[in-house]
Amino acid sequence: MTTNHNQKFYEKTPDERRQLLGKQFGLSKTELAALAADASPAGNQTIENYLTDYRIPEGVVTGLVVNGKEYTVPMAIEEPSVIAAACNGAKMTAYSGGVAAPEQDRLMIGQVVLKNVANPYLFKNRLLKQEDEILKVANEAYPSIQQYGGGATGIRVRCPEDFVIIDLLVDVVDAMGANMVNTMAEAVGHWLSAKGQTVVAAILSNYATDSLQSVSCTLDFADIATDQLSGADVASRIADLSFLAQVDPYRATTHNKGIMNGIDAVMLAAGNDWRAIESGAHAYAAMEGQYRGLATWHVVGDKLVGKMTLPMAVGTVGGSIGTRQLTATNAKISQIKSAPELAAVAASVGLVQNLAALRALATSGIQAGHMKLQYRVVAMRAGATAEEAGLLAKRLAGLDHVDEQVAQQELSKMRKEQAHD
Ligand code: NDP
Repeated sequence: MTTNHNQKFYEKTPDERRQLLGKQFGLSKTELAALAADASPAGNQTIENYLTDYRIPEGVVTGLVVNGKEYTVPMAIEEPSVIAAACNGAKMTAYSGGVAAPEQDRLMIGQVVLKNVANPYLFKNRLLKQEDEILKVANEAYPSIQQYGGGATGIRVRCPEDFVIIDLLVDVVDAMGANMVNTMAEAVGHWLSAKGQTVVAAILSNYATDSLQSVSCTLDFADIATDQLSGADVASRIADLSFLAQVDPYRATTHNKGIMNGIDAVMLAAGNDWRAIESGAHAYAAMEGQYRGLATWHVVGDKLVGKMTLPMAVGTVGGSIGTRQLTATNAKISQIKSAPELAAVAASVGLVQNLAALRALATSGIQAGHMKLQYRVVAMRAGATAEEAGLLAKRLAGLDHVDEQVAQQELSKMRKEQAHD
């Protein structure tokens, strides 16, 4: 390889970049070969300063029933216990019919923000009267979305502090819509600038309150009982934990982290922008001024009822979705055909994920299940090969205390025993 030193880093080839970093940071030949082995031409076309594809494990949640249909849903995640918990939650809800998820509305919001408006409230009325013209400007900036049945459909105008904000509502059909909404918002911004207005920003809002997805499930007590506790007791403890997440932000944050474990993993495997979903979800969790748990659980008669609503600005087309073969393969596995269906299924995974976490927390404690799966990771951290990890994990599960040092000792014991066999 010849390196052109006059080239800027972003102008170099991935191999040149890897070699340069190898020299600068003392990477070994094996490390450089591993970076090269996972590199892809598509990755290099996707981001700046590309080196390689960072791979994380992908699995599937099985037996998830949503709106009466059974799904197998790919999830990409490095945290060991998430998919096991999702399967457990899916199984518990499936006994009583699964998750109900009515079809979401799908409007994304583009904000056009003005300042220095002499009389904001008079101006607001003027804008509302000009709605058709504003929508025409927006739709002319991105005409192709209309061929899919979408486009800019309405405006709202708000006047917080000294700003006047036009919320442009856009039906983005099966796309997440960030690029198209940004294009439309900027066009409206230019149109207003040309009329002498001071435009502060023209950009999509990730607080996608017009793309909410609701999910709910109703469980029989018998389906959540454990060997030690009756279903009624488990339900009552889950309801207590749910209430705690409504009143204590410290608990609510972890409650919601568990929900997002499932949703993010589905989003990643579906090629979606999970950061957009995360930001919208957390903003929605704090919509009343206090950060609260997104999912709630109540005992109603002899049933446990779980409910959740959150913004789900998802897409089955657009962005980098079409650039990765694995995303297309995952869509074949999930059999999800549209963005509303993806929103329904992903939110359902979040709800069943929360159920499994709360049931564990309410009964055996969260560590029992977690550690069983974590042992394999501890085993690999201690130096076990992928072949040894399963066996070592089993041995670790039988010990009272496990840390990396203990795992290393157990690994050398295991290797000695195997050498003698
Ligand atoms: P695109 O810019 O790729 O737009 C979606 C395209 O999909 C449409 O333009 C259309 O192409 C095509 N399409 C085909 N079938 C359909 C259908 N049934 N419904 C709708 N569109 C269809 O992507 P998005 O606008 O969705 O933007 C998503 C990307 O934006 C993500 O990668 C995200 O990470 C990124 N982003 C996110 C931001 C944020 O969240 N704040 C900010 C900026 C970017 P055609 O018109 O050619 O037919």
